[in-house]
Amino acid sequence: MTDKEILPENHPRAESLKIRHTLIEGFEKGIVAIAGLIAHGRGEAFDYLLGEKTIKSAYNATKSAVASLLLAEKPVISVNGNVTALMAKDLAFLSNKTGIPLEINLFYRSRERELKILRELERYGAKNVLGVDLDYRAELEAIKHLRRYVDSRGILNADVVVVMLEDGDRTMALRAMDKKVIAVDLNPLSRTALAANITIVDNIIRTIPLLGEIYSEIKEYSNKELKAIVDSYNHISTLKDALTHMAISNERINEQLREVNLQIERKKEQIKNKK
Ligand code: ATP
Ligand code: MG
Repeated sequence: MTDKEILPENHPRAESLKIRHTLIEGFEKGIVAIAGLIAHGRGEAFDYLLGEKTIKSAYNATKSAVASLLLAEKPVISVNGNVTALMAKDLAFLSNKTGIPLEINLFYRSRERELKILRELERYGAKNVLGVDLDYRAELEAIKHLRRYVDSRGILNADVVVVMLEDGDRTMALRAMDKKVIAVDLNPLSRTALAANITIVDNIIRTIPLLGEIYSEIKEYSNKELKAIVDSYNHISTLKDALTHMAISNERINEQLREVNLQIERKKEQIKNKK
């Protein structure tokens, strides 16, 4: 029996624990970097504060992101190990449905890992995965580490780039190259969240399916309608709204305390009944 199977279904953190185990499996398969496990921890702490749900401002940011992608000439979705371990199937579906290529772009790059990620995405049917073919390897001038490598058919010449669990240096480099950056990042104060043009403060496990849903909903809109959706996005108020949601209210603390105290009482009863 795996760790994943022994998690009790009624555990209040069951979903988040399952995700942790999926990432650990991704690490064991060589898809996730060890630092990716820690990056996930940073993200899930913010998700806990957010209430593990898509707040309205994040929904609106996701809609503006889709409208930007529909208006883009050369959009691309950058993917890494964590994103692949958790969402390979949904990413393949989104990419095939929208025609937007996926580009494997790793902070801790190794040939072995990028090929494993490619295989995982292809296993779920992804038809257009860039970033691995060395014939198309290009470099971003503004970056020194291994993440400077990009695909000349993808990020190098893209006008709109979606990044998730991205590093701040790279986001800023993409901005300096005049690309429109859409970030999915649970930390509204990360350099990535601040530097992107559109930031979706939400978990990738909710955002990736939502991007596909909204795409189906608005793909026939006129350019004018799409531009209006893009223009309705306000960066500062989106980030502030996420922070406001994370500031736990008295009401929320009281409700959670009540729940925990109730569980302690139930356990007391169980112990008493056993005696
Ligand atoms: P930056 O380099 O942008 O300043 P950072 O150094 O604080 O950010 P990194 O480790 O570079 O953080 O990037 C990981 C980011 O991904 C963090 O901001 C974290 O909150 C976010 N993150 C982790 N897991 C998820 C997830 N499942 N969904 C969305 N965001 C996530
Ligand atoms: Mg960083």
